[in-house]
Amino acid sequence: MPKQTIRDINWQGKRALVRVDFNVPQDENGVITDDARIQAALPTLNYLLEKGASLVLMSHLGRPKGGPDPKYSMRPIAEHLGTLLGRPVQFVGEVVGSEAEAVARALQPGDVLVIENTRFDSRETKNNPEMAAQLAKLGDVFVNDAFGSAHRAHASTAGVTDYLPGVAGFLMQKELDYLGGALDNPQRPFVAILGGAKVSDKIAVIENLLTKVDAILIGGGMANTFLAAQGYATGKSLIEEEAIDTARKLLAKGEDCIHLPVDLVAADAFAADAAHKTVAVDAIPEGWIALDIGPATIAHFANRLAGAKTVIWNGPMGVFEMPAFAAGTVAIAEILASLPNAVTVIGGGDSAAAVRQAGLDGKISHVSTGGGASLEFLEGQVLPGVAVLADLK
Ligand code: AMP
Repeated sequence: MPKQTIRDINWQGKRALVRVDFNVPQDENGVITDDARIQAALPTLNYLLEKGASLVLMSHLGRPKGGPDPKYSMRPIAEHLGTLLGRPVQFVGEVVGSEAEAVARALQPGDVLVIENTRFDSRETKNNPEMAAQLAKLGDVFVNDAFGSAHRAHASTAGVTDYLPGVAGFLMQKELDYLGGALDNPQRPFVAILGGAKVSDKIAVIENLLTKVDAILIGGGMANTFLAAQGYATGKSLIEEEAIDTARKLLAKGEDCIHLPVDLVAADAFAADAAHKTVAVDAIPEGWIALDIGPATIAHFANRLAGAKTVIWNGPMGVFEMPAFAAGTVAIAEILASLPNAVTVIGGGDSAAAVRQAGLDGKISHVSTGGGASLEFLEGQVLPGVAVLADLK
């Protein structure tokens, strides 16, 4: 069901309580080392301000242990936001409570307030109703623009809508449009590429995608378990013994659809400087480890991708953190970047990092901001932080 967005609300004089994802990396002195997530929220924030709203912004930051920890304070984030917005940004050093309520009550159109890290309150991750009610006192309408946290039912992502109407911000809407559009209404051929370490993380994704896509290309560590299920000797490669049976069943179900590597780059150790060579899937030397897909696999996958009109990619094709085993992942990124007239969607996490590392993110239709959230979305699950938003009438 499509959701209402910030365009569906008359904001004049209203306080928008916005759940943003300002969980940015900082160095040991608290200096923000990458503000992409803050920048990404600006279209939503500027729109709300232009329409006459005041803003109360809330986010989690890092992993504090259920209580205040100065290392994870939102104060420096609020200061940085002020420079980006070009207007003063107020900050209160509590998540909820009388001070936050008093400051929020006094807000005038155009004012911006950032509250303290939502995870300084241990009730946040328990979706505690009292905390949700206290948060709701800070605004008139809830806006969820934090897709990356939408797979969690927390007080600031879900519970708050028991007390306030909720709508999607532009970032959230973009995620739903691209991921939802690909799954529900794809231009065909529709190809999925899955990689990464573990099959067990992606079984539900494969099950769901098998009903929707024209082809699934599997690489990365997870491919080894499928190869083992086919009876190949995989040396010391990463294998999930307990998932071999499931892999066999998935292969039977997706016989015409699932494509596995035909060759691999194998190494004599899990190390950046290990001796390595390209081998056919039936020729991994005893004791060696498959760490990337090989050139014949890249060519095979390129063939499957030629002419694709919708592509979803989650998980690297190899241990791309080590340059010797990054070629498969980089090649897939390059193929996606060069596909003409295709909608290409990268499902966050490591594949997003790999595409950025290759400098190709600008040539991808949509790079998701949520690793875990996009995986659950691809499993066909309704994300709690999305389900609670008002349906479009
Ligand atoms: P995931 O979080 O499941 O998407 O997995 C990402 C991780 O999988 C990355 O850190 C990669 O280094 C790792 N990976 C990819 N291919 C392999 C492989 N063949 N063997 C071991 N690890 C791998």
